Amino acid sequence: MRFFTAALAATAMTATLMATPVLAQNSGYVGIAMPTQSSARWISDGNSMVEQFEAAGYTTDLQYAEDDIPNQLAQIENMIVRGVDALVIASIDGTTLTNALETAAAEGIPVIAYDRLIRGSEHVDYYATFDNFQVGVQQGQSLLDGLDIENNEGPFNLEVFGGSPDDNNAYFFYDGAMSVLQPHIDDGTLVIRSGQTGMDTVGTLRWDGSLAQARMDNLLSAHYSDERVDAVLSPYDGLSIGIISSLRGVGYGDEDMPMPIVSGQDAEIPSVKAILAGDQYSTIFKDTRELARVTVGMVQALLEGGEPEINDTETYDNGVKVVPSYLLVPVLVTAENWEEVLVGSGYYTREQIVD
Ligand code: BGC
Repeated sequence: MRFFTAALAATAMTATLMATPVLAQNSGYVGIAMPTQSSARWISDGNSMVEQFEAAGYTTDLQYAEDDIPNQLAQIENMIVRGVDALVIASIDGTTLTNALETAAAEGIPVIAYDRLIRGSEHVDYYATFDNFQVGVQQGQSLLDGLDIENNEGPFNLEVFGGSPDDNNAYFFYDGAMSVLQPHIDDGTLVIRSGQTGMDTVGTLRWDGSLAQARMDNLLSAHYSDERVDAVLSPYDGLSIGIISSLRGVGYGDEDMPMPIVSGQDAEIPSVKAILAGDQYSTIFKDTRELARVTVGMVQALLEGGEPEINDTETYDNGVKVVPSYLLVPVLVTAENWEEVLVGSGYYTREQIVD
């Protein structure tokens, strides 16, 4: 009897296991439009989403547009033609998708803005992201910490870089960082010798590291021939790499001329290594597995008639509506805590960082 029950249970289990993939095919088809593979974070985002959507029984169509706006538009239009049940979009330029989203809405396809807000359209149902203002606050605060501004009067020379002006996040990062830096600029502890501030002036189109490198070259030759730059606000690891190579090019990075305090974002492997080497001071860890989890949950709720989980209904006005959002918490990473945060969470292995 016992054996019989066990055998029955085993059969039932096998049947369930075997049935899962069949059911899985039926849950729905999700189009995932990502901006570029040139940055590792977006590859992790894409992979985590495919993995988690598949585990929840969905099929996926993951496309990368290599930072080309018409390419991303065509990819989204094709997803609609192929009959996706939902769209998850990390836009390149948050203002260029209005027509495609009209079509999606006409077909009843819900749209989730992923990490970057889609602007100028009412057809954005939900937004899954990190607390982007807080990212900026952490970046700015890390510069103050790196300079040990509590115990040093300065003045310190600072230069500031912004992200891509067509990415809504870039303004949040910049404003967050300036909210902690500005009081020290006002009281003269921090000095921006170039006088260059404001996203119109310091933005970096398409988050392009070579543009940041060229701008840093210009800043160094125009304003720092007989002064040292002590800190550089960089909103993204890919820009930090360009900025650091520019600094290295004029001799920063040895004992007589240490690197300035440089921030970053995304905890990309080369930049975590740069932190350990003392070239970069900080980065921001945004756990893409968590962002994928929130997004998959939103899609599931929308397709299965539930209510997506949100925790912010005020911050993200896309020009047409305030998009209901879920904001995850970003984590500052420095040489002090990289192992605990990045290896401890299983995001990287120790060997990926220390070879
Ligand atoms: C993301 C950042 C990323 C940047 C460049 C932003 O929209 O929020 O995590 O560093 O794009 O890819």
